[in-house]
Amino acid sequence: MKHPPFEALLFEMDQLGDEERIVLKNHLRECEHCNAVATSWSDLEGKMRSAPQMAPAAGFTERFRERLVVHKRRRQERLTLAVILAILISLIIVTVFFGVELLAFVPSAITFLLKSVNDLVRLGGLLSILGDFALVLIEGITQSLPAGLMLAISTATSGLAIIWVFSIYKFGYKTIRRE
Ligand SMILES: [Zn+2]
Repeated sequence: MKHPPFEALLFEMDQLGDEERIVLKNHLRECEHCNAVATSWSDLEGKMRSAPQMAPAAGFTERFRERLVVHKRRRQERLTLAVILAILISLIIVTVFFGVELLAFVPSAITFLLKSVNDLVRLGGLLSILGDFALVLIEGITQSLPAGLMLAISTATSGLAIIWVFSIYKFGYKTIRRE
């Protein structure tokens, strides 16, 4: 008796036509070999189905949050480093091209630049918080409100957000200039 075609059919039980199914069943009744294959296959299939679903490892959310915090801190460090480098380079350029006298103005320039870093970082943080907030808001609204009203609300929200961010920017800029 030839086993190969039947062995192959065993793995496609779900897609078999009526005729093929009957032929296979008849073969299984008289063939020990294919019967053993069928049993072990359905056994394995059953075990795979009943295996517990992979759950995310405990503390996943906490780790994710920690990574976010680290990421934000690194970004701030990189930005600060970039500004310090820029300051050093411009110090060298100023000294070389305009002479040592201009170095008297450097401390105030450094203060200004460092403040700008703080403001940039703060603005970036505000924007990402705003983005998260809008996402949560939109998710909540899409599930309960008709589309037209939703569109109106999201337009109004983004308009307010733009005004808000602009006013923060303007306010921050003014306080720097005043000092
Ligand atoms: Zn067989």
